[in-house]
Amino acid sequence: MENRPSLLGLTKIQISEVLKPFRQPAYRADQIFKWIHHHNVDSFEEMSNISKDFRQQLSDHFTIKTLGLVEKNIASDGTEKYLWKLPDGKHMESVLIPDKKRNTICISSQVGCSLGCHFCATGTMGLLRNLTPGEIVEQVLQVMKISQNRITNVVFMGMGEPFMNYPRVIQACKILGDPEGVAIATKRITISSSGIVPKIYQYTDDKLPYGLAISLHAPDQALREKIMPIAHKFPLDSLMDSIRYFMNAKKRNRITFEYVLLHGINDTQAEARKLISLLSPIRCKLNLIPCNQNHLGFNAPPPEALEEFVALMMKAPFTVTVRKNRGEDITAACGQLAVEIAEKSIFMKI
Ligand code: SAH
Ligand code: SF4
Repeated sequence: MENRPSLLGLTKIQISEVLKPFRQPAYRADQIFKWIHHHNVDSFEEMSNISKDFRQQLSDHFTIKTLGLVEKNIASDGTEKYLWKLPDGKHMESVLIPDKKRNTICISSQVGCSLGCHFCATGTMGLLRNLTPGEIVEQVLQVMKISQNRITNVVFMGMGEPFMNYPRVIQACKILGDPEGVAIATKRITISSSGIVPKIYQYTDDKLPYGLAISLHAPDQALREKIMPIAHKFPLDSLMDSIRYFMNAKKRNRITFEYVLLHGINDTQAEARKLISLLSPIRCKLNLIPCNQNHLGFNAPPPEALEEFVALMMKAPFTVTVRKNRGEDITAACGQLAVEIAEKSIFMKI
């Protein structure tokens, strides 16, 4: 296994810290940061404004990229799924969703997830480990290079719960938003959380500029705790309090709520009405996501039921959108990411 530490997950200040023993001029850290994140190089050898000797020293002590591409699949709608092997042999996935005006990458924050939402394939894996800031940022760099696409939007909607890996996710956002690096506009980076209440307070107090999406999925506590075990620990009332705190502190434009439509569970007219009254006082956008097929037995509403639900929701005073299912034929859609290789090896051990 690779023992040299990677410089890819470090901020400029952290790079200058690790370079101290090499007695380099102060601007060296900035140069290296720019080579890694702006020029997206794979090796120190390519850093042509650094002396040959020091490039050699850098590659003796450090590395840059650590993710191995195992497989890339392209769906009929153009969605691309990337399966990565991590340095410790574990696997995780990223998804690129090209669209007319923007290219969105959906990145992972953890290998698996501990929260076990009943409809989500990642949840069935349990948590294998947190990703490092470098492993989070590298998903964006590698996909940009391999697909030769500019990436305009980053969403933490791959594997894992970003707020259960808070400091590493925030560090990755800071690196991705750095104007001398990949320079993704901060408002085009969105963290999606299932509602880890203390972290919503912390995120507000840390005054971070990235977008926030909350996975709501039910308009009342009783139903929410039936499908999302985390709702027992952080009930809907306290979640809504934390969201009001967040909205008041920042005078933000709006927050996004996500609502997976599970037929026969949360897609009746009664739920639509409750959802309108719950969210009306909040400056928000609601994104309805017809459930994607996985092995967990939940279904999207049939077209008539979806139409009825959406028609009622259109009366809401906030914006409502219905998400297109992208990449379903390569199991790249939300809630479909579960590393089959990892599962197979677990089965083989048993
Ligand atoms: N853990 C975070 C982010 C990753 S999940 C969260 O839950 O928000 C990304 C999104 O996919 C969430 O909104 C999640 O609820 C949704 N999702 C999970 N399973 C799904 C499924 N089967 N169909 C559609 N969306 C799903
Ligand atoms: Fe984890 Fe999000 Fe899946 Fe729930 S929906 S199990 S929080 S990844």
